[in-house]
Amino acid sequence: MKIRNCLNPSRPSFSFEFFPPKTDAGVASLLRTVEELAPLEPGFVSVTYGAGGSTRDRTVELVTHIKQQTGIEAMAHLTCVGHTRDELRDVLRRLDAAGIENVLLLRGDPPQGQTTFEPVPGGFRYAEELVRFVREEDFNFCIGGACYPEGHVETASREDDLKHLKAKVDAGMDFVVTQLFFDNAFYFDFVERARRVGINVPIVPGIMPITNYEQVQRFTRMCGATVPMRLALQMERVKDQPDAVVQLGVAHATVQCMELLSRGVPGIHFYTLNKSPATRMIVGALKGRS
Ligand code: FAD
Repeated sequence: MKIRNCLNPSRPSFSFEFFPPKTDAGVASLLRTVEELAPLEPGFVSVTYGAGGSTRDRTVELVTHIKQQTGIEAMAHLTCVGHTRDELRDVLRRLDAAGIENVLLLRGDPPQGQTTFEPVPGGFRYAEELVRFVREEDFNFCIGGACYPEGHVETASREDDLKHLKAKVDAGMDFVVTQLFFDNAFYFDFVERARRVGINVPIVPGIMPITNYEQVQRFTRMCGATVPMRLALQMERVKDQPDAVVQLGVAHATVQCMELLSRGVPGIHFYTLNKSPATRMIVGALKGRS
């Protein structure tokens, strides 16, 4: 199933993102998480692509396993980092041969120790080039990509970022998924600006329930998202009580999702960090509501 066909505001889908674990024990634990989340009937799940090394093969193995063993539609992420176009074609062929129909195409972050992104010789500088490449080759993938309601960390201005997003979508993207955000105002404003410049594909909000405040502070520093002052103060107050942090994180994300759904989003993508409880609580509450 092509994901673009399940992104529908009148029947929004929930989707779950995982990362490829480094160890076999991590893989076993992730597969348990997938099993625990399956009853929520996700529209699809996705597996991120690592910065390098063995976890990259795991992305291909995991999406194949999930799709074939559980029947849940599974999307592979793929980045330009460290890959020539021949290597990228090879990964795409493996995905295609395994029956994977959806890919999320990204540039990726500069490797550790580098401040700017430098493509390898024969590789790509921007996600847009990878999208164009996949469209020009003989593939039939449904293509997703990333977008940034608060602006990408490297961009000089949100207007430039939007201009680049438009070019990336025009190169052949079917939908985009947002970077995590904790204040829906960023999402609604972003969608409005995107529509105004002619970006018409579904824009799926990405939600990360806070379950560990220090970890989220680390993520937000890296990706440029902000935690609203009120939520930050509440988190500071309970940061030494793990259960209270989860309760607060789940409550905040549930309220965010309810507002997003009431305003007609095509789906909600959850950054699960390979754990099921928070996502199960939120989606359970949302499904109970409908
Ligand atoms: P691009 O769209 O190429 O943009 C990168 C930067 O270049 C932006 O600042 C943009 O404004 C600028 N730019 C784009 N085109 C041009 C141009 N023509 N001229 C000048 N500037 C330009 N990372 C991983 O390593 N693995 C993953 O699996 C992964 N999954 C992700 C999933 C989602 C939903 C999101 C939101 C992010 C994900 N990331 C992942 C992180 C992502 O790789 C980084 O945010 C990366 O820095 C940018 O990737 P991109 O595809 O958005 O890049």
